[in-house]
Amino acid sequence: MESTSNLLVRIKNKVSEKFGGWLLEALLGIIGTALLGWLVLARHWLFAEWACITKPWCEVSGWSLGVLIADATVTTCAAILLGSLWYRMRRRVRRKVAEPTTRERVTPQFHDIEVEDKRLNLRWYIRRPPHEWLHWRNINRTISPDAVQQVLDGPFHSVRTCNAPLPERLLTGLINEVTRTSPLLGEECSNCGQRVYQGTAGSGAKVWAVRAYALEELQRMQRNGTRLPEGQWSPPIVLENPQYWRLMVPPDAATDEQSLVLVPQDVYLEATEDATIEYKRKLRVVLRNGSNREIIVRRPTWRTDTGDIPVRPHTLGWDLESGHGWSSKRWRGTGQPEVTAQVGQVFCTWIGLTPTADEDDVRRRAVTRHLGTLVVPLTIDGQSQTQAIRL
Ligand SMILES: [Zn+2]
Repeated sequence: MESTSNLLVRIKNKVSEKFGGWLLEALLGIIGTALLGWLVLARHWLFAEWACITKPWCEVSGWSLGVLIADATVTTCAAILLGSLWYRMRRRVRRKVAEPTTRERVTPQFHDIEVEDKRLNLRWYIRRPPHEWLHWRNINRTISPDAVQQVLDGPFHSVRTCNAPLPERLLTGLINEVTRTSPLLGEECSNCGQRVYQGTAGSGAKVWAVRAYALEELQRMQRNGTRLPEGQWSPPIVLENPQYWRLMVPPDAATDEQSLVLVPQDVYLEATEDATIEYKRKLRVVLRNGSNREIIVRRPTWRTDTGDIPVRPHTLGWDLESGHGWSSKRWRGTGQPEVTAQVGQVFCTWIGLTPTADEDDVRRRAVTRHLGTLVVPLTIDGQSQTQAIRL
């Protein structure tokens, strides 16, 4: 009901706007023509009248006076109308000139944006302005590999003396040709010969997936506030946690059970004065799955030896990395007893400290390894083991 009346009002406005303009123009036309015609016809009479007006003894009277007064009124009205029309037209023209044409409004020249993967020493280049691809979803499935590569070029081997593109190995065989399988990314750089990564699937990673994951990570970082300029030059962007890190790990990463599965990433004091929080001093321990396999970590315990930092004993659990990356010190989840960690995934636990704990003390103890020991039971490849991490 309301929408109908709204629509009617809008139509009325539109019509009156249109007819207002027409009416004015028609009126002006009529007045102008009439005036001109009248001037031509009444030229002689006007000369006579003018001659009379300029002579003091001659007096204009009767119908001539009426005509002259009407004439003056019409002329004044016409002048006002013409003036306002002139003013309006000039304003419209000026606005048109001030508005840039579509050709001039084209976005400025896009500059390649360099993207660094500091973990695997890889470099990417964003070659197309972000507005063209930021809205893409499920890139690996929905966007053609060629289109993805036109947007994100790479990966290149990012060491000072190299910067060569990593080799791509085409899979031969009828099935691979028919199904158009992605080439595999060579694990060794064909330019400098250095081993760049190791694939977690036992072979090289699929290039198309790696590229799509890199672009999706850039989209995620953009949503979290990383600036991807459309025009200006930009400093290199560092990839935070692309999904392809699950397919590719550094060449020196642990490959057997004897090596470290859990790699400490950070230890820090989290202090709060919030009255609703029971533990106001927490020792945060951040770990990464440094193995090349998915692991299950179970409830950890904390062991304190003589001289270690004083703690308030409680049940420990795991918190997971938030969308902001682990270095943001923001965590999600509230102490889960068990988590499944993908290759490269980061998670953390905390230990309640006494109210006297301070940052300096924690830092010094971290350097001298006098905080304590985190004991983590975990399952890797279906086998249980325990890793004690001295901190
Ligand atoms: Zn190289």
